[in-house]
Amino acid sequence: MNLLLFSDLDRVGTDRIRLTDHRLQHLREVIDANEGDSLRVGEINGRMGEAELVKLAQDEAVLDVALVDDPPPKLPLTLVLALPRPKMLRRILRMVAELGVESLHLVNSYRVEKSYWQTPVLDPAVIEDYFLEGLSQSRDTVVPEIALRKRFKPFVEDELPHLLEGRRGLLAHPGNYPPCPRSAGRPTLLVIGPEGGFIPYEVEKLEAVGCETVSLGPRILRVENAVAALVSQLS
Ligand code: SAM
Repeated sequence: MNLLLFSDLDRVGTDRIRLTDHRLQHLREVIDANEGDSLRVGEINGRMGEAELVKLAQDEAVLDVALVDDPPPKLPLTLVLALPRPKMLRRILRMVAELGVESLHLVNSYRVEKSYWQTPVLDPAVIEDYFLEGLSQSRDTVVPEIALRKRFKPFVEDELPHLLEGRRGLLAHPGNYPPCPRSAGRPTLLVIGPEGGFIPYEVEKLEAVGCETVSLGPRILRVENAVAALVSQLS
């Protein structure tokens, strides 16, 4: 944990927070913290700074916080991702937050298994937990936006054109396509397909609303590796 995240619910005074949950265990058992230690802290969706650990007991930790820094800027990147299997989804949720992606749209596609939509990982509270793990790792406080879209065609026809306003749309698809550009700072919407890839109909629909099909070269990457490689390329 590189940043101890807290929310308004943890406040017991203007500049004082009290922790009683897994974060207390983390302080006691992982960091092996001591009273008087100084720790990096951040308020979820707020500012970051230092905290002094004023009390560390079996049942509570009390910290005095001074929030003086803004969180790092997000990448101007909207990621549209065909819903991956739950195990991979967990890792991708952490990664998206860690890498600073602004917003994530999880969408259906022909080769997404229907059962994936039933996973408990999609519970909003569970999604937030994975996001917070990623934010804590990379020292950020701002939770990415998330949207779940279970119908591909209405999403692409009705919603995607609005999302593309003011953004370059890129569709990552293995094949003989131009290489994915490096576009630091340019607002971009990136579409990544499912394990089995997008079917030709879906590629056509995405291209019809303005997505430019690009490739990462001849190696076909696993979805999570494709996310990491493409986001780095666009960072
Ligand atoms: N057999 C599938 C196909 O040919 O489309 C492979 C899909 S790949 C495992 C999953 C997703 O990762 C793809 O839909 C694409 O978005 C992205 N991806 C993986 N390797 C890629 C590459 N070399 N170029 C562009 N996108 C890639």
